[in-house]
Amino acid sequence: MSEPLVIVGNGMAAARLVDELARSALGRYAVAVIGDEPRLAYNRVLLSSVLAGETASHDIELKPAAWWRDRGVTLKYGRVATEIDVGRHELRIENDESIEFSKLVLATGSRPLRLNLPGAGLLGVNTFRDSRDVDLLLTLAVNRKRVVVVGGGLLGLEAAYGLAKAGAPVTLVHLMDRLMERQLDAAAASLLKSLVERKGVRVLLNASTTRILGKIKVEGVELADGRQIEADAVIFAAGIRPNVALAKEAGLAINRGIVVDDRLQTSAEDIFALGECAEHRGICYGLVEPAYEQARVLARHLAGRGDATYQGSVVATNLKVSGVSVFSAGDFLGADGSETIVLSDVKRGTYKKLVLAGGYLTGAVLIGDVADALWYLDMIKSRDPVAPIRRAIMFGRALALSSKAA
Ligand SMILES: Cc1cc2nc3c(=O)[nH]c(=O)nc-3n(C[C@H](O)[C@H](O)[C@H](O)COP(=O)(O)OP(=O)(O)OC[C@H]3O[C@@H](n4cnc5c(N)ncnc54)[C@H](O)[C@@H]3O)c2cc1C
Repeated sequence: MSEPLVIVGNGMAAARLVDELARSALGRYAVAVIGDEPRLAYNRVLLSSVLAGETASHDIELKPAAWWRDRGVTLKYGRVATEIDVGRHELRIENDESIEFSKLVLATGSRPLRLNLPGAGLLGVNTFRDSRDVDLLLTLAVNRKRVVVVGGGLLGLEAAYGLAKAGAPVTLVHLMDRLMERQLDAAAASLLKSLVERKGVRVLLNASTTRILGKIKVEGVELADGRQIEADAVIFAAGIRPNVALAKEAGLAINRGIVVDDRLQTSAEDIFALGECAEHRGICYGLVEPAYEQARVLARHLAGRGDATYQGSVVATNLKVSGVSVFSAGDFLGADGSETIVLSDVKRGTYKKLVLAGGYLTGAVLIGDVADALWYLDMIKSRDPVAPIRRAIMFGRALALSSKAA
């Protein structure tokens, strides 16, 4: 008889895990997925495209209903898992339902941070995480509401761009002196800023939000230097926190995320975690690719292939930010002792920086032209010596490989 395997969370990591399991351990488990979002798992990354009006909301489902049905997966959507009884191997779901498991996987993702500021509870303060948030943001845009987006990382930029494109006047305020400081060096960030401004977003840097103004609903935002920006709505895009409450209540080891080992097992036998809620070797990843790598390993492990271990991911950012292609990987700043090669063409909106150290490519930043991004990423991961292609590496794969052959 199939063992009951229960997954909490109907997000991207859960969907990929079921996909991997269906290939490697078909029939071994009877899988149930409990998710609090009231729809089939969807590609969260594409919420930005939905907001920008480039994709329809129903087109971002990861798999159609028939796919889940054909694999015999029980879906309980729009339902919150409320408690894990570790000893009895039982999961409680809201409305007093219980479900037994032989293996439990936590794939509960993250929640957006709401800054603890005066006025943060006013009507009109929102976040950007799920499809309900997107519906709300689109309503703001349709009604031409003035919006302040707090946070100049990936999510803030995506929210600002989508809102501006949909017709809302948008100001993006960012605490730091440059956008996406965790992925970009100063030159790349400055180019990105001007490209984003060209798309109609007003960007304020070194801008610390101290207060949201208004009595019942948002009327504006006050910055630390005293400036006030009039607004009808505020979107917090100032970071995420792993969803650990369920695991914490159950007494599992928690740090920032749910602590897992190289087999993605939590501190309790038979309970695993992956995706944004998991913390592996001190790192909580906030991106899809590590979640997918973890799903591959966990599926192999659950399929009984004891050799499968997760060693961590080389994090790369390869995406369109506000309609601008951006890639960043590895040591993009250039640590002491490294050398950098830079090509910058601000007028054309392209910037390219490669970081070399010890004879290897160790980091890269690309803005505008990202055609060779994956090739650079492979080089960073594989640690192939750069010496044979050093002269042409900057000009991309085709030229570099032909110069090597010549
Ligand atoms: C707008 C946006 C754009 C993004 N763009 C990119 C990008 O370009 N590239 C990239 O790599 N990453 C991007 N990300 C991040 C990416 O979406 C996440 O890394 C990915 O979704 C993580 O998958 P996950 O399954 O761990 O979490 P999630 O996809 O968040 O899924 C977790 C699910 O669990 C549910 N859940 C939580 N607790 C419970 C409970 N107790 N009971 C039942 N259900 C529960 C949650 O509601 C959620 O549905 C973006 C994120 C957003 C919001």
